[in-house]
Amino acid sequence: SDIPVLTIDGPSGSGKGTLAQQMAEKLGWHYLDSGAIYRVLAQAALKHQIDLTDETALAVIAGQLDVQFVLKDGQLQVVLEGEDVSLLIRSEQAGNAASKVAAFPAVRSALLQRQRDFCQSPGLVTDGRDMGTVVFPDAPYKVFLTASAEVRAERRYKQLKEKGIDSNLSDLVAEISERDERDTQREVAPLRPADDAVILDSTQLGIKAVLEKVSALIG
Ligand code: C5P
Repeated sequence: SDIPVLTIDGPSGSGKGTLAQQMAEKLGWHYLDSGAIYRVLAQAALKHQIDLTDETALAVIAGQLDVQFVLKDGQLQVVLEGEDVSLLIRSEQAGNAASKVAAFPAVRSALLQRQRDFCQSPGLVTDGRDMGTVVFPDAPYKVFLTASAEVRAERRYKQLKEKGIDSNLSDLVAEISERDERDTQREVAPLRPADDAVILDSTQLGIKAVLEKVSALIG
């Protein structure tokens, strides 16, 4: 389609969420947090007592998922079946559960169209693992944002703390590494840069420098 899309992919804690939200705001484009969809699906599975290894049952609820994303005071509110689950889905446990359900091909294909539906005028900024490779392969602007696991764990630690969630730094490094491993090794839509993505490493670069580089891409 003619609607411009900026895809931002990368591992957990690379800063892609912040970058995507700020770019969307700056450009006045829509924003898709695709990871939130997998997190909500895992939450729905827990709620309806569906086993996180039952691919068929997970694909069924993925197809019927009643989720709404509401932008309220600059914050993304995630509502599952009428219940605000914004905080609930941000725990490391929820992230891990999300990465388990996300490894199933039937789950991913059940969620494909729902993600593409976010592409509306005047444009879309989208954040995830396979935005540039699978969901929006024709996007004119693609970024792959990475950073060392240690730096990502530290950022996650701070982020969780700001949200009032207690965590342990060395546990976070281990969890992040485990999740990276699962996301990059899986057979379907593994985490990897699209061939035409611009690769940025935020280990040393601050968010401001990253924003400037990405803004320059779009012109
Ligand atoms: O980005 P976030 O940490 O919220 O994503 C949670 C999990 O959802 C990831 O670890 C990944 O397994 C999965 N995911 C995915 N594809 C996406 C976005 C997230 O598989 N596009």
